[in-house]
Amino acid sequence: MKMKSKADVVVVGGGIIGLFSAYWLAKSGEEVVVIEKKYPGSGSTFRCGTGIRQQFGDYANIQMMKKSVEIWKNLGEMLEFPEFKFAQTGYLFLLYSDEEIESFSKNVRLQNKYGIPSRIITPEEAREIVPLIDISEVKAASWNPTDGKANPFLAVRGLLNALKNLNAEVYPYTEVKEILHRGNEVKGVKTSRGEIRADIILNATNAWAKILNEKLGLKFPIEPYKHQAVITEPFKYDEIKPMVISFKYGGAYLTQEVTSGGVIGGIDLKYGPTWDLTTTYKFMREIAKNFTHIIPALKYIPLIRQWAGYYAETPDHNAVIGKVREYDGYYIAAGFSGHGFMLAPAATKGIVDIILHGKSDLPMDFYDPYRFERGELREQAIQMG
Ligand SMILES: Cc1cc2nc3c(=O)[nH]c(=O)nc-3n(C[C@H](O)[C@H](O)[C@H](O)COP(=O)(O)OP(=O)(O)OC[C@H]3O[C@@H](n4cnc5c(N)ncnc54)[C@H](O)[C@@H]3O)c2cc1C
Repeated sequence: MKMKSKADVVVVGGGIIGLFSAYWLAKSGEEVVVIEKKYPGSGSTFRCGTGIRQQFGDYANIQMMKKSVEIWKNLGEMLEFPEFKFAQTGYLFLLYSDEEIESFSKNVRLQNKYGIPSRIITPEEAREIVPLIDISEVKAASWNPTDGKANPFLAVRGLLNALKNLNAEVYPYTEVKEILHRGNEVKGVKTSRGEIRADIILNATNAWAKILNEKLGLKFPIEPYKHQAVITEPFKYDEIKPMVISFKYGGAYLTQEVTSGGVIGGIDLKYGPTWDLTTTYKFMREIAKNFTHIIPALKYIPLIRQWAGYYAETPDHNAVIGKVREYDGYYIAAGFSGHGFMLAPAATKGIVDIILHGKSDLPMDFYDPYRFERGELREQAIQMG
């Protein structure tokens, strides 16, 4: 496909963040081009654990996720893509100590303040939700029925379909090599297939964000860490509806994948910073050990696939989203750590508000790219699934 030579906005990166941003921009009448060096979704997005939760411990992520869930619930309709489903099947954090109960109770109070119906429940109530869980060591659980999960392949397909009917083009297998600028104004991008002029550039390359930033002499602390996940053979759907999380057992998160019924999940074993995405036997061994502590029956279910992807981590595990001061027209939405899929609807709405109107009603200051240089780190966001 011949490339356009100019656009209103160039979005670099065709993951969930780049595509969702392109959708809001094109809906607002902007002519948008998305440049993706491989194929849409091929970065972290297609490698994610599918989890979507509002159970965070700070005011900003809770409000952002409340907004995201509103959008996830209507996404199929909004994109006219009924194949996409948000399964509102909840998140269940298993708690094994008084310290965990105390810290999750505090989070629940904050979540309730913003209208999230989370609550602390007994081990027996947790077992009613997922009868297969071993509750012999569980002291309580933090449960929110309005959290959920969604299939990232269908989310990306829905967005791509919608973009076809808008003033937007997505160019796969095209790499942005340079950001063109005159003085401190961005003017476009130089790609592996030629130049595109645009006065607005959004860096949505997540784990790769620093590569483009460094070309402009910018330093935001976003580093690629290898995380892995697995999926098992499918079995009777709805045995493990919510995302089940256990910090005691490896920081494990697991649920039945929304379309296949296999158990998808991971643990908190990371490597990095690194560009290496080789899968490890250690991870496989740890997964087997930790998953079967939580749900003993899983020992009968074969693992069929293991893969690795990047968490684009920042020092406080919160994303870097906003306008870049040093270059007019340059914006960034990257560094989503382990929760960029779930945050995508609201995070992209927020950055597009900032691009088009200079401000947003969403609490975007929390993700201010300059908080690190001011030494204002946020409370570390819970990373799991
Ligand atoms: C194992 C694992 C489990 C996870 N589980 C969850 C979960 O349960 N819930 C959740 O919310 N999140 C989860 N995440 C995190 C989530 O996957 C990411 O935060 C999210 O996908 C980020 O989306 P993105 O669009 O910012 O990045 P990406 O999907 O990585 O997209 C960035 C794109 O930019 C492209 N690119 C890079 N450089 C260039 C260039 N120079 N030119 C053109 N294109 C370029 C890349 O090819 C890539 O496709 C998980 C991640 C992993 C690895």
